Amino acid sequence: MNVTLIASTEFRSGVFEDETGFVSEVAATGADALAEAAGRQCYEAWERRNPATAHNRGYLANIINHQHFSVLEHSSATFLIQGVSRTLLAELTRHRHLSFSVQSQRYVDETCRQPVTPPALRGTPYETYLANFSVIAEDWYVAVRNDLARKGVPRKKAREAARAFLLNSQPVSMVVTGNLRAWREVLSKRLHEAADAEIQELANEILTRLKDIAPGSFQDFEGLIGNDVIRRAA
Ligand SMILES: Cc1cc2nc3c(=O)[nH]c(=O)nc-3n(C[C@H](O)[C@H](O)[C@H](O)COP(=O)(O)OP(=O)(O)OC[C@H]3O[C@@H](n4cnc5c(N)ncnc54)[C@H](O)[C@@H]3O)c2cc1C
Repeated sequence: MNVTLIASTEFRSGVFEDETGFVSEVAATGADALAEAAGRQCYEAWERRNPATAHNRGYLANIINHQHFSVLEHSSATFLIQGVSRTLLAELTRHRHLSFSVQSQRYVDETCRQPVTPPALRGTPYETYLANFSVIAEDWYVAVRNDLARKGVPRKKAREAARAFLLNSQPVSMVVTGNLRAWREVLSKRLHEAADAEIQELANEILTRLKDIAPGSFQDFEGLIGNDVIRRAA
C-alpha cells in the first residue's frame, strides 16, 4: 500500500498574536498550535500559569485527558491511499466522520491489477494461488465486459456488471479526509489487534504521518511494534 499525506490544515496565527499575545512554541502553521489556540481561546487562558500545561504537548495532553476533543476538529488531514483492497475500503468507509473520493469500478478499467495479499498469506504458497486466481477472475471480467459491449450495453454498464467477477483483494485508490478527532476515532479501533490485519497496517501508516504534522494531538497513540504487536500509550 502507498499512503501519502496530500493536504493538511494551515494555521494563520497572526490574529492571535496581535490580539492576545499568544505565540505558539510549535510551528506556527501546525495543527497542534491551532488546537492549543482554539482551546486557550475558550477560557482566555493566554498566560500559561500552570507549568504542566504551559507547553503545547502538556496542554494537548490535558485536552486529551479531559476528552475536550472538539478542539481537535479544527484541523484536518487528507491522504491519497493506493493499493489497498476493496475489503479494506468496506471497513474504512464505516467511519462516518471521514470523507471519501474512491476510484470508480464503473468508470475505470480493472485489468492488469495485482491483488492485495492479506498479511497472513504473504510469503506463503497462498500468495501465488491468489495471484493465479485473480488472473482467472480478471479473464472472466474481461470476457463478460466485452460480451456485453458487443451486445450494445454501454461501457459503464458493462463494467459495473462485469466487476461481479472481481475479488475482494482487487486494489483500489482513494482520497480520504478527516479532522484530527475523526482520525483518532479510526486509530482507536483500527490500530488494534482485534482489527483486520491489512487495516492495522493502514492505520499504522496514517499514524506515522499524523505524528509528523500533529505529534501533540496523537501523543497517546503508538504504532505497530515488530510484526503485529500493538500498544497504545497510557
Ligand atoms: C474489530 C472490529 C470488528 C468489526 N466487526 C464488524 C462486523 O462484524 N459487522 C459490522 O457491521 N461492523 C463491524 N465493525 C465495524 C464497527 O461496527 C463500526 O462500524 C466501525 O468500527 C466504525 O466505528 P464507529 O461506528 O464507532 O465510529 P465512527 O463512524 O468512526 O464514528 C465515531 C464515533 O462517533 C459517534 N457516532 C457516529 N455516528 C453516530 C450515530 N449515528 N449515533 C451516535 N453516535 C455516533 C460514536 O461515538 C462513534 O464511536 C467492526 C469493527 C472493528 C474495529
